[in-house]
Amino acid sequence: MNILHASSEVFPYSKTGGLADATAALAKSQAAAGHAVTLVTPLYRVIRENFDDLKPLGRAQMLANVWSLEPEPNLTVLFIDEPEWFDRKSLYSHIDDAERFIFFSKCVARLARHAEIVHAHDWQSGLIMPLLADETIGKVFTIHNAAYQGCFPADKFELTGLPKSFFDWRQLEFHGGVNFLKGGIVFADLVTTVSPRYARELLLEEYGCGLEGVFQSRVGTLTGVLNGVDYNEWNTTDNPHLAAAYSADSLDGKHLNKLALQREFGLPELADVPLFGNISRFTDQKGIDILLGALEQLLSRSLIFQFTGLGSGDSLLEQSMSSLAKRYPKQVAVKIGYDTGLAHRIEAGSDFYLMPSRFEPCGLNQLYSLRYGSVPIVRATGGLDDSVIDLGHGEDMATGIKFGDCSVTALGQALGQAQELFADRERLAKVRDNGMRTDFSWTRTTAEYEKLYAKIKKPTA
Ligand code: ADP
Repeated sequence: MNILHASSEVFPYSKTGGLADATAALAKSQAAAGHAVTLVTPLYRVIRENFDDLKPLGRAQMLANVWSLEPEPNLTVLFIDEPEWFDRKSLYSHIDDAERFIFFSKCVARLARHAEIVHAHDWQSGLIMPLLADETIGKVFTIHNAAYQGCFPADKFELTGLPKSFFDWRQLEFHGGVNFLKGGIVFADLVTTVSPRYARELLLEEYGCGLEGVFQSRVGTLTGVLNGVDYNEWNTTDNPHLAAAYSADSLDGKHLNKLALQREFGLPELADVPLFGNISRFTDQKGIDILLGALEQLLSRSLIFQFTGLGSGDSLLEQSMSSLAKRYPKQVAVKIGYDTGLAHRIEAGSDFYLMPSRFEPCGLNQLYSLRYGSVPIVRATGGLDDSVIDLGHGEDMATGIKFGDCSVTALGQALGQAQELFADRERLAKVRDNGMRTDFSWTRTTAEYEKLYAKIKKPTA
């Protein structure tokens, strides 16, 4: 099939979160399966500065210059080059984001005309669906996080060039403004999200972020397809970021990575102390407040453990994390910032990985931690629930620890279970081994998407 993806971030060119990993890996995996895949993304400053082998495609028929790369056979990445909109330090949260992503969507809609399937991701690409309303192309829209919707004042609607009739409560209008995510949901032939449980959650007021009615109206076309892991990027056997290689068959390197991580963070180098890790955007979604509360509780009870964290975002949460590390320098160490290499080292060096998310569409870090032998402790929501098997299922099956309530108490109890597991070396080894051998490769996800695409692919004239 001739597939065109549109994403506002793509690893390794640009990344703020899981969207970049997921779109890059899906496109790569589809290309490896023999499809002709094009991935369109903006040319941000960070790409201009770091990739000097871009090839010009010119501007013919286009609103902007387009550059291309062919990182794999069958895969072309196209970069939309409009300095006024994209030559900026950060990817998002600019005052003119509506204009920026209307422009991007219009460019993609022009490039998409020869594709059989157009697959757009998240609000930044949502308008591509209505822009192609009259085209005989199969249209798929994937929601990686419904909390980000691209809501703008009504006067931005005119810039889209869409028929006035589309500014209607059944289509793009939302509480008097325009909602790009809603446009994607309403005009796609097929709406997908990144885990089966999150697909069910989106129908509920608690998780639908105000769009639950819209999701309910499209329930027949809404499917959850769990993301996968690009094991070429996220592996423990051939990884330049790690101090030592290891695998489920040979765990010595895992212990060396733990000691190296403790050294890197200035923590005492102790093999026998359970080490918890977390890598996060510091937002309400990720439950960092709960994490802080639970850590504080354990520390006040003088329990023996260590914690290493990496993240940035909400400045109050950043301050609270830093202050905890200052007060307990032998047990808590935190780096505020963004650091890909350190993300790999935390996954590899920790014994347990913490993800107390309030909601989690899929979550990638728990999938990485499973492969890295860092037993995930997760709240049972969205993709976390779909990808981790709780201790309660017995050590022959379990891959992690789950808790239900979004509270310090519930996370505290889960941490208590983790401490017990750590003390029982045989049981820990079994649970860790189960996780490390679980396969979340993209081959499964790609096959699921092939089936979905086949349902909506329009017959060629
Ligand atoms: P989300 O997309 O909601 O942020 P995911 O778990 O799906 O959460 O994906 C997060 C991705 O971003 C992972 O690859 C993770 O390692 C990476 N990441 C998040 N914060 C940081 C950070 N501070 N430094 C390096 N990588 C980070």
